[in-house]
Amino acid sequence: MSTAMPANTYQPKGMLIDGKWVGSVSGAHFSVENPAKRKPITDVPRAGAADVDAAVEAAGKALSAWKKVVPRERGKVLLKIAEAIQARVEELARTIALETGNALRTQARGEASMTADIFRYFGGLASELKGETVPLGESVLSYTRREPLGIVGAIIPWNAPVMLGALKIAPALCAGNVMVLKAAEDAPMGVLMMADICQQFLPPGVLNVLTGFGPEAGTALANHPRVAKLSFTGSTEVGKIVMRAAAERIVPVSLELGGKSPSLVYPDADEDWAVDGIVNAMRFTRQSQSCTAGSRLFLHEDIFDSFLKKLEKKTTSLKIGDPLDEASDIGTIINNKQYTKVCKYVQDGLERADAKLVFGGLPPKSGPLSEGYYTIPTVFADRSNDWRLAREEIFGPVLVAIRWSNEEEAIRMANDSHYGLAAYVWTHDIGKGLRAAHAIESGWVQVNQGGGQTPGMSYGGYKQSGLGREFSLEGMLDSFTQRKSVTVNLTV
Ligand code: ADP
Repeated sequence: MSTAMPANTYQPKGMLIDGKWVGSVSGAHFSVENPAKRKPITDVPRAGAADVDAAVEAAGKALSAWKKVVPRERGKVLLKIAEAIQARVEELARTIALETGNALRTQARGEASMTADIFRYFGGLASELKGETVPLGESVLSYTRREPLGIVGAIIPWNAPVMLGALKIAPALCAGNVMVLKAAEDAPMGVLMMADICQQFLPPGVLNVLTGFGPEAGTALANHPRVAKLSFTGSTEVGKIVMRAAAERIVPVSLELGGKSPSLVYPDADEDWAVDGIVNAMRFTRQSQSCTAGSRLFLHEDIFDSFLKKLEKKTTSLKIGDPLDEASDIGTIINNKQYTKVCKYVQDGLERADAKLVFGGLPPKSGPLSEGYYTIPTVFADRSNDWRLAREEIFGPVLVAIRWSNEEEAIRMANDSHYGLAAYVWTHDIGKGLRAAHAIESGWVQVNQGGGQTPGMSYGGYKQSGLGREFSLEGMLDSFTQRKSVTVNLTV
């Protein structure tokens, strides 16, 4: 074990199976890296199929009692978890910043507080797990029950690991399910800390958390015969694999996948508030490692140059540096693989004749920023929506600005993507703004703001960006319960 753990961060104790902290059956483990230093910080167990079996077994044992707990009592447990997370929010934030490279001040603190909020929100919803009565006639009583599905297999990514984990755990458990969750290999520490807090209030086996790799632990979980529901957040590519596994056993699946979200700026929005909004929507302070990043910027031709000048001024004033440093606005990319991938996209942009580099470029090869996976916000201007950088999800701070003159054409380009997760529209003209919002094929369109999700809104993708919704009451009911109809003959 390395001694490189900064103060007030969480030290993992193993994986959580049946209320106990354990190593993997095989004894294998792997190290978690600090992306700001390219150095290992801790070791966690490397789960395989045998560990998945043990976790599913534990979950199965816990199910019959947990599903019978009165929903409001389950809700109270979630509320206690929320308060316990709130009490340790700074430690959780520092742990997230350490392992993900997301800056503490601009990102990790917000994620940690949002995690407490998610437990609080779903805790308060427990009594909404209601069914209906159906008017089939005077001599019949027909009603529905919202019953849990059983053992939920959840797989999450590393970009907002704790928040995305909470979005599975809180609604699934509230609805009476039990869970086996596999954390992402790059960011398991914050998720284990959240599990540690949950475990203080939950019966053993209700929540089990595994650490391990996708093709090993992830595959075993997705294909486990006793897992009754799969809930996945990650890439579209792996989402398809998970959906295939679900198809084999006809189990329901929820997918929250990638995006290549458009931002549509009308000529009247050539103003500082819109520029701030674009920086936010592009998630530059998260190194744009967000599925909702507004990474295609459609600017009206009348404001194309002036808007980009303002965007350059604003973006280049952001400070890139150590994620744990309060002064840093922007941290690091998660790992070498993603860093190399982002650099390759920047290189492709630099080599393309039709594209013009507006600002940014390849990261420095020497100096303090070269010690970690730091990249620099980069913007290319191009006329086309058809090249690689405008079509593929980069998951890094590379924005493509595209000129438009005709609204219909702009919306056509915005919709010309196999993704449909988020979108942003910027204008003072509410008629135009809402017309565009309705015409854009995305699960979530924001007008004149570029914020993140809030509990209560149903969030999810159109097209290959996903299936199902999260973050809301409807999301919990649709994703984590099944409806049973009971019909009673009253004449007997
Ligand atoms: P990202 O590109 O964000 O890393 P991935 O889709 O590769 O997204 O990973 C998201 C999650 O899916 C991680 O927990 C990863 O371990 C898991 N995963 C990767 N490959 C598979 C697979 N073949 N089966 C199941 N889970 C997988």
